[in-house]
Amino acid sequence: MASAELITRLNETIENIPDFPIPGIQFKDISPIFLDPKLYEDVIDDLVAFSKGKVDAVCGVESRGYLFGIAIAVALEVPFILIRKAGKLPPPVISESYDLEYGSAVIETREGQVKPGQRILIHDDLLATGGTTEAAAKLVEKQGAVVSQFSFLIGLTELKGEEKLKKFNAEIYPILEY
Ligand code: AMP
Repeated sequence: MASAELITRLNETIENIPDFPIPGIQFKDISPIFLDPKLYEDVIDDLVAFSKGKVDAVCGVESRGYLFGIAIAVALEVPFILIRKAGKLPPPVISESYDLEYGSAVIETREGQVKPGQRILIHDDLLATGGTTEAAAKLVEKQGAVVSQFSFLIGLTELKGEEKLKKFNAEIYPILEY
């Protein structure tokens, strides 16, 4: 969906940091995107075009999922719901544990912010093993909503994260694939 020109600009901007935070990880640093407001705007426009008319709310995954997720939700004129690491949100919360590419974690969302029957976009900056996104999707389903779409700036295809997401029968869109 993204133009070849947008993909080129993103490839030139996102930095690959080998062996961070541990040996063997190719860390994709998206922070240079925020030095270029026009590029940021074009990324948002592309992600908004993917979701326009298809979702009732956006769930963003802490913390880099917020950097684009809120702007997507505002442009779509739909609610934005925070999915956070355990212990950050006040009760009542719903929790889900998952494995990361490095380590493991628990994520939570405030109960009641996702409404039953809503069509949800789950957005994060990067799809690696898919563990985080899968846990986010389970949180959404626990609340009686439907996961209709997943979007990412980057999908690391070798890690086969999409395999974990197939069962949700949702559209999956990474702008870039490595
Ligand atoms: P996963 O649960 O394995 O799909 O991991 C996805 C989450 O971990 C995302 O929120 C990313 O921000 C972060 N992450 C995992 N691998 C990388 C990587 N190689 N570069 C940058 N961020 C990563």
